[in-house]
Amino acid sequence: RLVAAQPQSNQEEALERALRPKVLDEYVGQEKARHQLSIFIEAARLRREALDHVLLFGPPGLGKTTLAHIIARELGVNLRQTSGPVLERAGDLAALLTNLEPHDVLFIDEIHRLSPVVEEILYPALEDYQLDIMIGEGPAARSVKLDLPPFTLVGATTRAGMLTNPLRDRFGIVARLEFYTPEELSRIVVRSARLLEVEIDEAGAFEVARRSRGTPRIANRLLRRVRDYAQVKADGKVGVAVADAALSMLDVDHAGLDLMDRKLLSAVIEKFGGGPVGLDNVAAAIGESPDTIEDVLEPYLIQQGLMQRTPRGRMATLLAYQHFGLQPARVQGD
Ligand code: ADP
Repeated sequence: RLVAAQPQSNQEEALERALRPKVLDEYVGQEKARHQLSIFIEAARLRREALDHVLLFGPPGLGKTTLAHIIARELGVNLRQTSGPVLERAGDLAALLTNLEPHDVLFIDEIHRLSPVVEEILYPALEDYQLDIMIGEGPAARSVKLDLPPFTLVGATTRAGMLTNPLRDRFGIVARLEFYTPEELSRIVVRSARLLEVEIDEAGAFEVARRSRGTPRIANRLLRRVRDYAQVKADGKVGVAVADAALSMLDVDHAGLDLMDRKLLSAVIEKFGGGPVGLDNVAAAIGESPDTIEDVLEPYLIQQGLMQRTPRGRMATLLAYQHFGLQPARVQGD
């Protein structure tokens, strides 16, 4: 699917790895997070300590995984990577933790999806670098305490609100990643084009950037599709006209909304009179999961001022009506 800002195939994942900036200086945008991290990383290095645990949150595709890798590299340590749903049993996490070297980074993606038993053993590990596990079963079971090397947990989540309070409280550094401006995405597109050996001019890069939902993963993906189009339909060079034609073919409209964005907005407008409508109702109406709507679709539409989240439900804004050339039936907020 075009909409989800997740990698769509193994091939895409491999390409992403190739396009990933490796050091903080190459990481475009996110000034605030970058500035904070550069200071804390430097301080940890000077003191020869493990960096404090880091929580990164923001919609998919904004660079959380990339940043985790950069943190490890800037600290000069190894990174071990896993994700919340993969760690099913306490032992899975214990195995990872006991294999860390001092000051290593453990990256847990989708950390809001950790099972309670795994989360439970994570607390003392984060707090005192101690592992407290049960070995054996029944009457023979006993609890074992192990010392762990000092390490840094980097957790990533699409929604910080879904973390339990005790878990959230254990992160000393919390960075929220924001959608990128078209200018920032333009720099990313130009850089990726250079690495992929795509000939693109400034206006072409800006056109791709402007229509990428503020998201580097989508910008890189669209760049590759635009390149295909340019190879077949033009002379391989990407200017603004080629970019526009390719993006239109991909159903990315002039405001940069894709098919699913438009489906969601027009459902709110046409099926629910502009809202307010509950998440589950609108999800059922468009055949999309409430999670995808909340994690992927909504954040960008809200940031763009096309949708509002009110206590009574989701509402389409005047801007959303205008996007479709429609007049709202009644005054907003009625
Ligand atoms: P997330 O983990 O938040 O879903 P990723 O870190 O996997 O996102 O980023 C997706 C892709 O976007 C990466 O392959 C990388 O090439 C690109 N990217 C993300 N953030 C940046 C950035 N700040 N500068 C340049 N490229 C970026």
